[in-house]
Amino acid sequence: MNIIVQKYGGSSLADPEKIKLVSERITLLSSSNTGVVVVCSAMGDTTDDLLALSHEISSNPSKREMDVLLATGEMVSCSLVAMALSERGYPAVSLTGMQAGIQTETAHGSARISELNPHRIIEELENGRIAVVCGFQGFTEDHELTTLGRGGSDTTAVALAAALGATRCEIYTDVEGIYTADPRIVSDARKLIEIEYEEMLELAVSGAKMHPRSIELGALFDVPILVASSFSNEKGTLIHKEANMEIQNRVRGVAADKNVSKITVRGVPDKPGIAAALFSPLAEANVSVDTIVQNASADDLTDMSFTVSRSEHESAIALVESIISDLGFKSVSSENNLAKVSVVGTGMQNSPGYAALMFKALSEAKVNIHMITTSEIRITCIIDEEAVNRAVQSLHKAFELEKE
Ligand code: ASP
Ligand code: MG
Repeated sequence: MNIIVQKYGGSSLADPEKIKLVSERITLLSSSNTGVVVVCSAMGDTTDDLLALSHEISSNPSKREMDVLLATGEMVSCSLVAMALSERGYPAVSLTGMQAGIQTETAHGSARISELNPHRIIEELENGRIAVVCGFQGFTEDHELTTLGRGGSDTTAVALAAALGATRCEIYTDVEGIYTADPRIVSDARKLIEIEYEEMLELAVSGAKMHPRSIELGALFDVPILVASSFSNEKGTLIHKEANMEIQNRVRGVAADKNVSKITVRGVPDKPGIAAALFSPLAEANVSVDTIVQNASADDLTDMSFTVSRSEHESAIALVESIISDLGFKSVSSENNLAKVSVVGTGMQNSPGYAALMFKALSEAKVNIHMITTSEIRITCIIDEEAVNRAVQSLHKAFELEKE
């Protein structure tokens, strides 16, 4: 049997009318030789609403109970989608993460899938039913409920597609695909027909909306992922191996992320083991550190800056403050209103000209750069949040991304 996995995001399922429209789309695929597995996110802003609700009860709810609470969102949407399909005469069954066999590690709130046992899904497909699986949730070895982190339904969908050997995974959302930049910021941003996993992963990490882990899994198991709108019949963007470069040697897209804070420790002794002593406690506390910059030392003392997401700012500062005197650091300071902009493209590999062009464009747009990092296929600048739109617009123009 040919299997296709379709994932629908919250905005595509925001109300009963939209749920009926989605069910209509799903039935277009369903036929005797195609098994359809649907993965749903929670309706509309349900997850945010549930988060807000919990905070009316407790300022610091346990992560375990948060997972139980948040997982209800996907159970609502999946059961309604299954009902809508049945109404159309298509047998369907909703399945929780546990029923679908999605086993995870224990980290509540950001659990990674450790094993997938989709025998129940296969059984349902063989019996001619459409399987409607709750995205974003799984269960541990001890049968505790877990969630995969915000936006995690993408990862559920790609993981299922991999485990089921699906032909492809289709991700339906409220935008028509992956763009050269956020079309709300850049009016002539262009939709990409295709993009490679590696590039998409850099864009997803740099702020384009997709759960990064889903792209990693797609690359690992070679699952072609189509990102398209559930509200139109436009073609969407195909994420796959070795996209035919539309034009050689180019930047593929510009991404921005406003969720950045920077922490600087000054007067750090410049000797072996200091970076480990600073970053190990952060890692143990599960604070993920992004960009790290260490200055050249003078008088055997150096400065070190690193960035974390804003939600982790407070805990990172508290941790660093608790170890500064032990390690002989002089002071800690931080900045909260920062953002990062990145240009991404496999065409940039080993081509120094791209960095220079990026810095020139930013300077012409009067954007101050705080930090710079690069990977083989990405250049990222940490800048002031206030300058983000200007920065993205100027980079999009400088790299001529509006042109085919
Ligand atoms: N409903 C969850 C969220 O809003 C998971 C998802 O949408 O993928 O983060
Ligand atoms: Mg959602």
